[in-house]
Amino acid sequence: MEIVVLQSYVNYVEAHIAKGVLEERGIACWLNDENTVTIDPILTNAVGGIKLMVEKDTAPEAWKILEDLKKENRPACPHCGSKNTELVSTPRKASNWISAITTFFLSSSAIAPDKVNHCFDCGHEFPENETPETA
Ligand SMILES: [Zn+2]
Repeated sequence: MEIVVLQSYVNYVEAHIAKGVLEERGIACWLNDENTVTIDPILTNAVGGIKLMVEKDTAPEAWKILEDLKKENRPACPHCGSKNTELVSTPRKASNWISAITTFFLSSSAIAPDKVNHCFDCGHEFPENETPETA
């Protein structure tokens, strides 16, 4: 059985939410370096954050579940109503979906001024401030 890193988090709460959602769907998963990050947040960058680990065979399904979870929380496109949107740091980076997702996860703790929501269905872009507040 091979274990892979599905996602890494700087935020303890987000890591646990993701873990809880996967476990609810019956996917075995673990958090690595959780203790290090919780005890000494300064070490977070040194160890690469809290890593959500899954079995390699379940990784695609787990990834899709997390994707769907994020889509539920995404703002609807004001142009076409689709929720197939991502928060991206610049419009040019929209094609790099891993980067876009990472940016989305980090965005609650780090405010970057030049982010937009990109709609993958119609290509419309709209301001970040339409993102639902999670705090
Ligand atoms: Zn749209």
